[in-house]
Amino acid sequence: MEYERERKKLVNALREYNISERTLNAIKKVPRHLFVPSVQIANAYVDHPLPIGYAQTISAPHMVAMMCDLLDLQEGQKILEVGAGSGYNAAVMSEIIGTKGRIYSIERLEKLSVFAQENVKKAGYSNVEIINADGSLGYPEHAPYDRICVTASAPCTPQPLVEQLKPEGTMILPEGKRYQRLYIIKKDIEGNITKEDRGGVIFVPLVGDHGFNMFCGN
Ligand code: SAM
Repeated sequence: MEYERERKKLVNALREYNISERTLNAIKKVPRHLFVPSVQIANAYVDHPLPIGYAQTISAPHMVAMMCDLLDLQEGQKILEVGAGSGYNAAVMSEIIGTKGRIYSIERLEKLSVFAQENVKKAGYSNVEIINADGSLGYPEHAPYDRICVTASAPCTPQPLVEQLKPEGTMILPEGKRYQRLYIIKKDIEGNITKEDRGGVIFVPLVGDHGFNMFCGN
């Protein structure tokens, strides 16, 4: 398989982040070179974010892997991703949840949603659906979701996403403008929410009705 050696090297480099074997196996399988623009193919297996056009990036593999582990993804789950970008994160999640699971990945930029759609198709992930819309509003059509993965930084937690999370569900969300923190948000069986800070991160802004166009009151 093409670029297998590069993928193995990347997986070895990710071991220093204490990533689970399950997630490392997924990273080992996903052909990241199919998710970057052709001028970036030589850098596809470097552990860095890379430009994908339109001032957006494909996240660094260690960040994708850490988010997958924090989400504690399980086979057969229904997942909402906000910020499809290249489609790579969705492909890694697809490897973990298997063919019985389903991923709805929203991208607000039309050209990137076409890019992501083409990439997941090329790489053969048929349980990933890319939707061109404002993901800060979630995707009520298929709610509620077992897991929600937000890959752009919000000014505050978008309420529609909290509402679309299943009881006993988990959401991961970067928040903040210049100083961003990654939060893990859990809903218990009675609908109570807990929010835990998992450290500093750098993401592009979440733009939209519940993104950086809105006033959060804090
Ligand atoms: N997950 C992506 C990947 O694997 O390539 C990386 C995502 S990139 C860091 C963040 C993406 O979020 C960008 O493509 C950006 O256009 C998108 N975005 C920002 N605000 C959004 C919104 N309200 N709804 C959907 N997508 C949004």
